[in-house]
Amino acid sequence: MVVVMAAEATEEDADGVVSLVRAAGGEAFVSRGESRTIIGLSGDIDRFAATLNLASQPGVSDVVRISVPYKLVSREHRRERSVIRVGGVPIGPDTLTVIAGPCAVETPEQTLASARMARAAGASLLRGGAYKPRSSPYAFQGLGEAGLKILADVRAETGLPIVTEVVSSSDVDLVASYADMLQVGTRNMQNFPLLQAVGGCGKPVMLKRGMSATIEEWLMAAEYIAQRGNLDIVLCERGIRTFENATRNTLDISAVPVAQRLSHLPVIVDPSHSGGRRDLVLPLSRAAIAVGADGIIVDVHPSPETALCDGPQALIDTDLRELASVALHLSPLVGRTLTPAPTPSAAAQPGAEPALAAG
Ligand code: PEP
Ligand code: MN
Repeated sequence: MVVVMAAEATEEDADGVVSLVRAAGGEAFVSRGESRTIIGLSGDIDRFAATLNLASQPGVSDVVRISVPYKLVSREHRRERSVIRVGGVPIGPDTLTVIAGPCAVETPEQTLASARMARAAGASLLRGGAYKPRSSPYAFQGLGEAGLKILADVRAETGLPIVTEVVSSSDVDLVASYADMLQVGTRNMQNFPLLQAVGGCGKPVMLKRGMSATIEEWLMAAEYIAQRGNLDIVLCERGIRTFENATRNTLDISAVPVAQRLSHLPVIVDPSHSGGRRDLVLPLSRAAIAVGADGIIVDVHPSPETALCDGPQALIDTDLRELASVALHLSPLVGRTLTPAPTPSAAAQPGAEPALAAG
């Protein structure tokens, strides 16, 4: 059950609802949006509905019973599809947003070169992992805070806001102090304390689908973030495990329209981690855009043969023009505009929202 507060409701009105629910043995999570406050309830919902008379409490505009186990992220709760802004760059139903960059931050030179490649590929956001969740404990685990500093320098130089992964709840505040959007990877999709921590971090979150997760489990994971007051969530389909071993994972293309019908959140696709092969990234990108994804996130690297992580799937210089052309020319066919990259000068001014360059 979700309690929707009226636009003019006060903090005390919301606190009143929370106290009532808590006194009845339930829990209430307050989510303060730009135009209204929403309170998600958990516990014995049927009893609360029968005894608490929430609809007539001061400041309450509506009490909504939502039939699905994810509430705040569902389209039953919000019919219009959401636009999430990452450092001023929109991700949502009218735009196609390309995110590109290296799998891992390795050196300042490699990260800057990758950011320039990202711009050439039509990207408006830069990806790059400073904390890498590797299946093998012997594999490169990322540069940690030194990697975050490199990303911040490259953002200042290129104007591209940064998307970077966080793997531990204890690092959330640190990563959020550098990142424009935090990424929760496939291996952590059901790390509930991490989801709750990013729910309180005040920055947008990209939630990758667990490699063996159903769409419903994915949306319930997003709900953990939303329940802590953060509805700035972008879902990312990155391929799932199937019996097929010709590709690294199987891109579940139908997950895009299914998730978009169930949730108001934007859904993007990672063709790099899906196929795991450079030659599949462009075909899978075309498929993702055609099926209606709100964006794609793509690995690039200036010298993939020396990459410390996922070199075989990274696009190289000669692929970039085609990716940019695919994104630019397919977008209008699916009713979208390719999101332009912010201008570097705007990002160089501290605290400034990057201006979006025309064209
Ligand atoms: C990544 O994007 O760098 C990554 C590790 O992806 P995934 O969590 O999808 O494997
Ligand atoms: Mn990777």
